[in-house]
Amino acid sequence: MKRAFYPGSFDPITNGHIDILRQARAVFDEVVVGIGIHPGKKPMFDFDERASLITDCLDTPVEVVAFDGLVVDAATKAGAVALVRGLRDGTDLDYEMQMAGMNGAMRPQIVTVFFPASPPTRPITATLVRQIALMGGDVASFVPANVAQAIRRKVA
Ligand code: ADP
Repeated sequence: MKRAFYPGSFDPITNGHIDILRQARAVFDEVVVGIGIHPGKKPMFDFDERASLITDCLDTPVEVVAFDGLVVDAATKAGAVALVRGLRDGTDLDYEMQMAGMNGAMRPQIVTVFFPASPPTRPITATLVRQIALMGGDVASFVPANVAQAIRRKVA
């Protein structure tokens, strides 16, 4: 039984995150989504909102947990053997290689696995989704329908 841990902010979940989750679920028996909570950083959606947006947009049940410390500690606690991360471009690669290297040094038992962003979702970032929405733009092609609706309510 191989379980992976997919950490991120998911503020909110986007079609890019869903694409990575789909790829990870094709390889691992279980994927636990870890929502990182950063004290002092004001998110658009709180943990409960982010967690229900994730579970509501997927066809199959997924475990969602919150964490506020080291990703490797959260992954260990979740019983995961791997960390899942998505790669969009060279900037992601540089940053993710540092994280993978340092996480691997801290917890060699947990490997980092990268999945490539699929071409249609490659440009999507949750940060830009929030910015576009706050400026009155339509984000329906970047996020699932329930998220687009929740963003519209939040911005209104
Ligand atoms: P974002 O960078 O969009 O704010 P997160 O911090 O929640 O998202 O990222 C969590 C993980 O999901 C990271 O590994 C990130 O590279 C990956 N990810 C985010 N958006 C995409 C995307 N469009 N395609 C592939 N991976 C993505």
